[in-house]
Amino acid sequence: MGVCFFSNPDDLCEQHPDVILLCTSIISTEPVLKTLPLQRLKRSTLFVDVLSVKEFARNLLLDVLPADFDIICSHPMFGPQSARQSWTDLFFVYEKVRIGNESSRVQRCEQFLEIFRNEGCKMVEMSCQEHDKFAAGSQFMTHTVGRVLDMLGLESTPINTKGYEALLNLVENTCGDSFDLYYGLFLYNKSALEMVEKLDLAFDALRNELFGRLHQVVRKQLFEKGEKVKSLNGGSYQNGVASALSSNALRSQDIIPYEFIGKISESVDDSSKLKIAIVGFGNFGQFLAKTLAGQGHSVLAYSRTDYRDAAKKLGVSFFSDANDLCEEHPEVILLCTSILSTEKVLKSMPFQRLKRSTLFVDVLSVKEFPMNLFIQHLPPEFDILCTHPMFGPESGKNGWNGLPFVFDKVRIGNDESRVARCNRFLDIFAREGCQMVEMTCAEHDRYAAGSQFITHTMGRVLEKLQLQTTPINTKGYETLLKLVENTSGDSFDLYYGLFMYNVNAMEQLERMDFAFETLKKQLFGRLHGVLRKELFGSSEKLKVLQEKSVKQNGALSSYPESVKIS
Ligand code: NAP
Repeated sequence: MGVCFFSNPDDLCEQHPDVILLCTSIISTEPVLKTLPLQRLKRSTLFVDVLSVKEFARNLLLDVLPADFDIICSHPMFGPQSARQSWTDLFFVYEKVRIGNESSRVQRCEQFLEIFRNEGCKMVEMSCQEHDKFAAGSQFMTHTVGRVLDMLGLESTPINTKGYEALLNLVENTCGDSFDLYYGLFLYNKSALEMVEKLDLAFDALRNELFGRLHQVVRKQLFEKGEKVKSLNGGSYQNGVASALSSNALRSQDIIPYEFIGKISESVDDSSKLKIAIVGFGNFGQFLAKTLAGQGHSVLAYSRTDYRDAAKKLGVSFFSDANDLCEEHPEVILLCTSILSTEKVLKSMPFQRLKRSTLFVDVLSVKEFPMNLFIQHLPPEFDILCTHPMFGPESGKNGWNGLPFVFDKVRIGNDESRVARCNRFLDIFAREGCQMVEMTCAEHDRYAAGSQFITHTMGRVLEKLQLQTTPINTKGYETLLKLVENTSGDSFDLYYGLFMYNVNAMEQLERMDFAFETLKKQLFGRLHGVLRKELFGSSEKLKVLQEKSVKQNGALSSYPESVKIS
């Protein structure tokens, strides 16, 4: 690196550097500073620190340094991970705590700050107190969440959602930092303990919501004879995911592979227009309708709630009776119902009013469950396409370009027109630039169900903490805020569906709990260690002093000398 290294601080100080840049861990700064041979430095040396907590550093430097030294307290709000490409647009916070009036000193201070300005940093001058108000809390929260996630050993999948990518980024941004840094944030932040408690409470509250609902469902199942809730241990599928039906066994063998034709023609011509009926016109149904209608397809909708006005604005014909909808003979039925209501809605559809070759598509966030439902309940002449757009109204609000769209052609008739219809439907997403990923429903669930559940759980826990943006957000903190933004608009039904129809959800919840508990133990264990050392360390000293005085009085002489030297 072209750096002269000294293992003796006297040698370093004798070099008379203009600036001493303190990059020590928060907890070691005081002892390091106190052991530096300050008398060997020039009297006008500039001291700069980069500690992640600032009031502590400021007070320490003012306390320990001679009055003729200059002081800048700074905090680059980035690290080796978040700034590995460049420092452009990343915050550099500083306070000129004490700079002498002489022009050479003022100039040196500016020259130092220029280093960061030249790299493109956003320079923010604010008091150490203000910095701590904004940053110490958000940083501690970011590192805590990053460390919990790191313990879960998350892995990238070929179909990451934006939310999951945010989690992976967070782990990447924080995992390279030392435990000392994290412990320093914990120790020198007045509200850290309160934050740990809040996180604990938020996690508990979410678990209670889940378990409360589970309890309700089971009670209903046990005490109400009429309605059977098959989603729990019943029917031909368990927990929605593990099914006796194999997707491959029922798959049509001679499907012509999907090829995107949309890129050839920019606009949708009449021959590729479809008549699509959306069943379940809630949050996600309306989100999809906007693009479908925008591409010129004829869009119809049916839902239990009256969405006449919303439909009108989107250019969609709304039906409040499923019979009327089916009598319109749509070519595609697009199921956008909640995971939990899908079985009920599907069973209530008057299939006999549809044309015999209708294509059924679903967009549920779990895939094996709807695939099995379709195979069980749909007449055999209907085509089946199971899909999952891996984005939502938040993450896809600025377009779908590059976002993954997973699909499985579960059963498409050999007929050329049926194959073409399926491809025309897929082209809707390819045309928007989606990354088209063909995989089986089982594969999808293996990759996505777990990562989605963790993403939504973390998003919901953080949402309860009502995190606020600050003028000096780190990349990691931005990621937390983005995660909340990406998941908070989704209904609890969606989250609950992911919990119910993911066989591993309970285990994942437990692992998250365990990771958080382990982290707390690490923090409190170290705290306890420090305190114990202080308590027992001083009583040990006391003992030695007492022994010394007894010895001096001639009463005790049998202790070996080594025991008495502490
Ligand atoms: P959701 O809460 O999962 O589903 C809401 C839809 O389900 C509404 O259309 C609602 O109809 C219907 N519904 C709920 N309970 C019902 C019942 N008992 N009977 C009849 N209909 C019922 O929220 P969503 O975000 O709109 O998601 C819809 C589907 O898309 C879900 O399967 C979800 O997994 C999937 N998905 C969502 C996203 C996303 O980012 N939001 C992304 C990919 C896939 P009413 O509004 O008429 O009550």
